[in-house]
Amino acid sequence: MSTAIINPADETVVAHVEFADREATDAAVARAVVAQRAWAALAPAARAAHLRAIADMVEAHVPELADLEVANAGHPIGQARGEAQAVADVLRYYAATPERLTGSQIPVAGGWDVTFCEPIGVVGVISPWNFPLPIAIWGVAPALAAGCAVILKPAEWTPLTSIRLGELAREAGLPEGVLTVLPGRGDVVGERLVSHPEVRKIVFTGSTATGRRVMAGCAENIKPVTLELGGKSANIVFADADLELAAASAPGGVFDNAGQDCCARSRILVEARVLDRFLELLEPAVRAVAVGDPRSETTEVGPLVAAAHRERVASFVDDESIVAFRGTCPEGPGFWYPPTVLLPPREHRTVHEEIFGPVVVVLPFEDEADAVALANDSIFGLSGSIWTRDVGRALRVSRGVQAGNLSVNSHSSVRFSTPFGGYKQSGIGRELGPDAPYAFTETKNVFLADS
Ligand code: NDP
Repeated sequence: MSTAIINPADETVVAHVEFADREATDAAVARAVVAQRAWAALAPAARAAHLRAIADMVEAHVPELADLEVANAGHPIGQARGEAQAVADVLRYYAATPERLTGSQIPVAGGWDVTFCEPIGVVGVISPWNFPLPIAIWGVAPALAAGCAVILKPAEWTPLTSIRLGELAREAGLPEGVLTVLPGRGDVVGERLVSHPEVRKIVFTGSTATGRRVMAGCAENIKPVTLELGGKSANIVFADADLELAAASAPGGVFDNAGQDCCARSRILVEARVLDRFLELLEPAVRAVAVGDPRSETTEVGPLVAAAHRERVASFVDDESIVAFRGTCPEGPGFWYPPTVLLPPREHRTVHEEIFGPVVVVLPFEDEADAVALANDSIFGLSGSIWTRDVGRALRVSRGVQAGNLSVNSHSSVRFSTPFGGYKQSGIGRELGPDAPYAFTETKNVFLADS
């Protein structure tokens, strides 16, 4: 079945992609099972060399991958270049790990006990459309480093850069079947990867609703699963903060990638006594966000990914009385939506549900305890920011907020050298960081009798 891939900035057809069916998925798994045995048998240094070779190949194709993402996902060109470069960086980071996947020796009576980190086998990586390349590589690179084979299923709307990544890996000499990119529908290819007994682990990034279904499917096979799901992260601004800096950076913290970011700081909580001043500073910053043609070097925010998604985002703002102010966006073809700031009551659905678009709510709080309670009043717990000049408060609030990734006086969320993942319905498990390859191994302990 051939599916048209649409450019979200002008609604033209960029490409047609053949989607795999269940039979093609089973065939890919069978090839991956065979390829994984040979891959795991390679010397660790040889696996590392392969990862570095793919990184070099990707780096040489950053402009091509970036152009492809601009056309497929509508990402601004500067951002798209950064995402392609991040693939090379993550591959190089994990290229250092195959030789460091050490076990341990444990003192026991009557002999010795040693542990081995054995690759788990074939891994299914199911990725979303919001950051197609970076999120894919967070699963792919450590899994390959650990000696696993990977089948990557990109999102239906944004398969092009993942397909190209698979081709580049082959051109860089990765043996066939070690990394298979299988475009297809979630309810066909995705579900089959979840249910297939020879796929031994699932790495899923996407919505909480689908993640719940994936987890239930994995339970059928007692299959380990990592879930990186939705978010409704709080950006907490205390009265003692550098308000100018907090307001100037708040739009980037939520509107980057058109708000289609699981870590978007989509709830700005402001200490009540500085709310008016903060809004005064925020309004010009929001109106200045450059929304437009993603091919332009000066564009900061592109379109939403698809017409259906724009409809969903717009459905949250059906009551103009809660709109404080908006930025601008182009008219005409393309799935545009302006940066929008809401001042809703605390119980409004925009305060609690993930919108996944360029819409932010601003809520006042009374004191530190109220700020933490408000931040935690969510089913999600992925990221968050705390703006204050008081170091003690920064640490207290960081410890109090139930989220996996927090930043103080910053909106930085993801660094590949540190663990990333969520609390509550934002997910299970952690990706990235130095230990990530261990999550793609089984620990085997072997006892050697001394007589
Ligand atoms: P979805 O959950 O709809 O899709 C994610 C992936 O799962 C896609 O590849 C999709 O395929 C696939 N899929 C859909 N149905 C099934 C199924 N039954 N079994 C297996 N796989 C399936 O999420 P979106 O693509 O809409 O992504 C947006 C969501 O992702 C947001 O809620 C966001 O917060 C979350 N997200 C979380 C991140 C995190 O790290 N915590 C990072 C990025 C996004 P198809 O495209 O064919 O539907």
